[in-house]
Amino acid sequence: MPKVYNWQIGREMEYPFEEHLPEHQFAAVFDLNRCIGCQTCTLACKSTWTAGRGQEYMFWNNVETKPYGGWPRAWETRLLQNLGDQRWENGVYRGNTVFEAAPWGQNVLGYLPEELDWAHYNAGEDEVSGTVENGAHYRIPHEVWQFYLPRICNHCSFSACVAACPIKAIYKRKEDGIVTIDRERCRAYRECVRACPYKKVMFNSVTRVAEKCIGCFPAVEEGRQPQCTITCIGHIRLNGWISEPEDADPEAPMDYLVHERKVALPLYPQFGLKMHIYYIPPIHVPPQYLGQMFGPGVEQAMETYRAIRDDPELLGAMLLFGATDRWISKFRVRNGLAFGYDEKGSELVRVPLKEPSYIRPLFDAVQQTYRHNTT
Ligand code: SF4
Ligand code: SF4
Repeated sequence: MPKVYNWQIGREMEYPFEEHLPEHQFAAVFDLNRCIGCQTCTLACKSTWTAGRGQEYMFWNNVETKPYGGWPRAWETRLLQNLGDQRWENGVYRGNTVFEAAPWGQNVLGYLPEELDWAHYNAGEDEVSGTVENGAHYRIPHEVWQFYLPRICNHCSFSACVAACPIKAIYKRKEDGIVTIDRERCRAYRECVRACPYKKVMFNSVTRVAEKCIGCFPAVEEGRQPQCTITCIGHIRLNGWISEPEDADPEAPMDYLVHERKVALPLYPQFGLKMHIYYIPPIHVPPQYLGQMFGPGVEQAMETYRAIRDDPELLGAMLLFGATDRWISKFRVRNGLAFGYDEKGSELVRVPLKEPSYIRPLFDAVQQTYRHNTT
């Protein structure tokens, strides 16, 4: 197999094809500290793309509660168990990726979920990590925890679905790096479903083709962010282009958050896919749990995020999440405002770092009454 360099695991690895960088790479950052598990994103995607026949069970965007939720059931633990020893040494991953651990005759280590694995969307939903003893809810920090993990296709650079398809029906678009399926070519082998470690390819048994998140490319082509991002109630999401680390532009929001500040991390980088949905880890969750999920940068990311109040530039970047439906190519922070710009440098949005507040007098002379708790 050819060797490719994967900066997310800090080393070269085996992949069936040479790397061809797209002109731009689609990416997003999801801030897990802000997700409230409302599933608005899930339904926005469902009503846009998967309301047809054979798609009844499909959620290209899903939100699961960690530590116990997962859709399909146990999607990550089943693979992690088979991957073997997963050690990191000074930022370098020393275990096998899903390509290096592939059984003889296959390109990718994977498994095909059973029908019932897709049938339990709500398993583990809203469950916490342990038992809440009498009175424990008064103790800070809380001993039990949970968090919501929204997931879409990661539009990976070293996509397992692309590597596994025997007839090359899945491809990565040159212009934006979005991974999509040629429905005319697909012959229903389901090797992509088996291979994707994130289980983000689904099979439509009516049309007999595999289907997956298409990154809302018709919107992206018009300079808009995807549906799941613009409808997000918690403003946890921001899309943008991401560069290779050596080409990072500190004014591009994705490069700034991922490469410069290292506050947003890939999900299970040890799979080896160089995936492009990056997560800001939830700061109330034990770093030991998060470390196996987001790799060795977790503690530094948590520390940076905790200090955000005294970090106007990072705060400014975070305030652009959910501030516009347009695609932000660059951002700047000055004079207490965060600005977002499009590709041509035109201003799309400006957001104050601090919302103005007005304190009204306790006694309202017009109404001849006292106000309480009103600011
Ligand atoms: S997340 Fe899965 S479906 Fe999406 S590009 Fe990566 S391997 Fe393919
Ligand atoms: S819409 Fe936003 S806040 Fe609601 S579940 Fe989805 S990602 Fe979380």
